[in-house]
Amino acid sequence: MRERVYRTEAVIIRRSDFGEADRLLTLITPAGKRRVIAKGARKTTSRLAGHIELFTHTMLLLAVGRTLDIVTQSTILHSFDGMRADLERISAAYYAAELIDRLLEEEDENRPAFDLLVSTLAALDSTRNIDLVLRFYELRLLGFLGYRPQLFHCANCQEALTEDTRRFSTAAGGALCPRCAPLERTALPMSLNTFKLLRFLQSQPLDTTERMTISPATRIEAEHLLRAYLRRMLERDLKSVAFLDEVGQAMRAQPSASVARSSQKE
Ligand SMILES: [Zn+2]
Repeated sequence: MRERVYRTEAVIIRRSDFGEADRLLTLITPAGKRRVIAKGARKTTSRLAGHIELFTHTMLLLAVGRTLDIVTQSTILHSFDGMRADLERISAAYYAAELIDRLLEEEDENRPAFDLLVSTLAALDSTRNIDLVLRFYELRLLGFLGYRPQLFHCANCQEALTEDTRRFSTAAGGALCPRCAPLERTALPMSLNTFKLLRFLQSQPLDTTERMTISPATRIEAEHLLRAYLRRMLERDLKSVAFLDEVGQAMRAQPSASVARSSQKE
């Protein structure tokens, strides 16, 4: 039996109004996804109000409720303030949150996935390679949840892949060797640079993304391949993908992007 009161680390990934003055929170914790109530959190006098912002990494004290557990205390561990005033960073955080929300089941214990979310939000706070941080996140999250795209061995015959690899199959679950590629007509073309980038992100630590200089064409191809893979798995695009695309297009059209960067969205 669970204790009546317990403590857990959490990242708040969704927040909505509930009843007269409460908020319903969706949390990612090391013990899985959880929905909880923050009572009275919309009242101006609430001590909780400032401590349950979206995307904060927090230590929560919860009381076991009849249906939903109740937040009684929140101590912020990381507030990730750097991304909050930056539309491109915050839209990436929305995407990261929605992806884990879709992939992780309630009460599905997964400490590595939780730690990945925290380190990804921390990276989004300051990185100069927002897109590469997201590709890293997609590849690792898929791996932790048992959907790792195969990039080192052919997804069809399991033979070790070489630099001759030029096809990626969402149906087979990864890259195909030159012998298997012609058998899979829906396989997508993949340049050698994109293949190398994806393999690198799947096997190297997150901070290496900071030192990478990657051409726009390779970045776009990597994004498209992983998006196709996720679309097949989730059977549709995430809602935040359209938002992410719009922001990305606005940034490219207007490199200084001072107007977009100064506006906030919650
Ligand atoms: Zn093969």
